Amino acid sequence: MWAKPLTQWYKANQRNLPWRKAPHPYHTLICEFMAQQTQINTLIPYYDRWLKKYPNISDVAQANEDEILKSWEGLGYYSRARNLHKTCQIILNDYEGIVPKDPEVLQKLPGVGPYIAAAIASIAYEVPISVVDGNVLRVMTRLFGLSDDIGKDKTKKKIQNRLNQIIKTTTPSEFNQGVMELGATICTPKNPNCQHCPIQNVCYAKNMEQIEKFPVKQKKPPTPHHIIVVGIIQRSDGKVLITKRKKNQLLGGLWEFPGGKVKGSETLENATIREIKEEVNLDATIGHFLCKVKHAYSHFKITLHAYMCSVSHHESIQCNSADDYEWVEPSELNKFAFPKANKVIIQHLTESI
Ligand code: SF4
Repeated sequence: MWAKPLTQWYKANQRNLPWRKAPHPYHTLICEFMAQQTQINTLIPYYDRWLKKYPNISDVAQANEDEILKSWEGLGYYSRARNLHKTCQIILNDYEGIVPKDPEVLQKLPGVGPYIAAAIASIAYEVPISVVDGNVLRVMTRLFGLSDDIGKDKTKKKIQNRLNQIIKTTTPSEFNQGVMELGATICTPKNPNCQHCPIQNVCYAKNMEQIEKFPVKQKKPPTPHHIIVVGIIQRSDGKVLITKRKKNQLLGGLWEFPGGKVKGSETLENATIREIKEEVNLDATIGHFLCKVKHAYSHFKITLHAYMCSVSHHESIQCNSADDYEWVEPSELNKFAFPKANKVIIQHLTESI
């Protein structure tokens, strides 16, 4: 059986990560929310700062959303921050501030899917339920010699069912973290270090010398690329206009400069004028080009062109596609939570003043 050598290897070789120093259900909750779509090395400083600022669930629950988004700024996928905020409020109000143990109950919380529920239940409470993420899928398809497409839900289910039988016989927190740790450090996508793998004796892919055949994953269609224009509207007193994205949008609740997608054969300048008119009902005049920023999200990429703009009258502002607006000194922009691409624009703006 391979569970025992795996957990022994994990206990002896696990990386020294901050959430492993003092395991606590709240710490696991924060770590698992942050770890979605984010590299471990990126999230560590965020995790440390978060726990200093919000040592308990009640600190998160009682903070306002702007503050939460500001603390999350730069981590991306901001719906995670909003969901974490709501989840902490529900835990405080409905569960006396104690993170639930039952994976079914956990999955009813905002932003908690099967993976996070299983991770919290097993790591914080030793509930015997297996986790299945990209690392686990890679290790298990190699170990068992499974050619199923790992992009399909039924493959995840099949692997989870198989692991659920094994995890009952071991210590759940060590088993789940052991498989994930093996995938992150030894059974890597390229050049796995099989010589140091604790389960190499029973690994199908290693023993059949077919490691490159696993995992099987169907290719995704090419990522769409959007051209975006942004107008930094500056008043005569130097203040610039920022708008707050609607709550139900991607990056909802964050601040940005007005702008949007270029349509058809529009010039960048005309698109900027149109977007400003549509978003805030101002007739803008284009000034100088400020900067170009490239950024990739999970499902699309953008190239963003930013122009300085002026308006002769700004009394007629209407938030047609935003929740709020503010005129802000450029030096004060860092107090607001912005998406990453906008942060680059702010840097160019403050350097150009
Ligand atoms: S022996 Fe190699 S391929 Fe098999 S699980 Fe270990 S590291 Fe992965």
